[in-house]
Amino acid sequence: MTETFITNMLIIGAGPAGYTAAIYGARANMKPVLLTGLQPGGQLTITNDVENYPGFAEAIQGPWLMEQMAAQAKHVGAEIVMDSVSKCSLLDPQKEDGYFIFHTDTGNIYKARTAIIATGAQARWLGLEAEERLQGYGVSACATCDGFFYRGKKVAVIGGGNTAVEEALYLTHHASHVTLIHRRDSLRAEKIQQDRLLNNPKVTVIWDSVVEDILSGGKPEAVTELALKNVKTNEKSTLDIDGVFIAIGHNPNTELFKGQVELDSEGYIITQPGTPKTSIPGIFAAGDVQDKTYRQAITAAGTGCMAALEAERYLGETE
Ligand code: FAD
Ligand code: NAP
Repeated sequence: MTETFITNMLIIGAGPAGYTAAIYGARANMKPVLLTGLQPGGQLTITNDVENYPGFAEAIQGPWLMEQMAAQAKHVGAEIVMDSVSKCSLLDPQKEDGYFIFHTDTGNIYKARTAIIATGAQARWLGLEAEERLQGYGVSACATCDGFFYRGKKVAVIGGGNTAVEEALYLTHHASHVTLIHRRDSLRAEKIQQDRLLNNPKVTVIWDSVVEDILSGGKPEAVTELALKNVKTNEKSTLDIDGVFIAIGHNPNTELFKGQVELDSEGYIITQPGTPKTSIPGIFAAGDVQDKTYRQAITAAGTGCMAALEAERYLGETE
């Protein structure tokens, strides 16, 4: 049987942004309800060592960190529900007595006075079987997160946009050599970044080439080689590497909100500069779903805090 729940604050997403919003919301006595979606803990549950989240001298495990955040949110009184939003109506809350309406996969309905969208983003992947299997063991989509583990090693970056070039340049600070592999013969990245890349003695670019496979050289959890194909000549080759960074773009999880909350051309939720406010008063956005620049756990947590504080302020002003 389906049920309808009423809440002051609905948080959609259980990553660092969602859990932090839940902690602040609960401590402000907003009695928040957090819907976890299909990935409780968010993106950090698919990584191993996290070394840049403040507060821990030693590396911590991503899944462990997220368990701690969930426990803290529960401890201060947030309600955490394993369910996903499947449909919502945000445009005219007055139609439903001032409540935004959210339908979930289980058929339940949440009527919320305020909502915080923290549904995150997902790295685009090439779609290779090995890519999924070796994530955290040599395959990454985040140089800032994992570059440190490749000190003195050889890495490759796939892509030709600003992210790929930035990741490649960042990796030159750690790796002994960086090979950027791009499927065309010109980069999409800004000219100044291209110049930096092409003039960096630690970088080689392989043009017109795609990755056909990521190889482990007989080891179960390692990356040793890339199998490449030149798309112009069909020539095949291999490249010895210790790690590969896929940087072919990200997709924010905003499909649900299209046509309601204002999105930018790439689908990210637009927030008013320096705030978590979206185009709809009472609807706030936090974390990667509204951030295509930093995409870090700490920035997600920071904006989650801001969203909860703003939601509290909004309720105070509208009541
Ligand atoms: P996410 O963590 O993406 O969480 C989104 C949440 O929304 C999930 O719980 C999901 O289930 C939920 N959701 C989605 N759709 C719905 C729906 N319809 N209904 C309900 N819920 C929904 N950052 C660092 O700072 N340090 C690192 O070392 C680091 N390593 C990383 C390693 C990897 C492999 C990856 C992929 C990322 C890494 N990051 C790292 C980046 C960091 O994970 C993200 O910046 C951060 O998780 C973003 O948090 P978020 O709360 O915005 O969203
Ligand atoms: P992007 O600009 O969409 O570039 C993605 C790159 O990956 C492109 O070069 C694309 O090749 C390649 N690619 C896509 N799918 C691929 C596949 N299946 N196989 C191989 N290559 C593939 O994405 P982004 O670099 O993440 O940037 C996203 C947005 O954020 C952009 O607007 C960018 O300017 C912005 N950004 C800005 C900054 C900054 O200003 N400092 C930093 C990072 C990102 P093609 O070129 O052939 O399409």
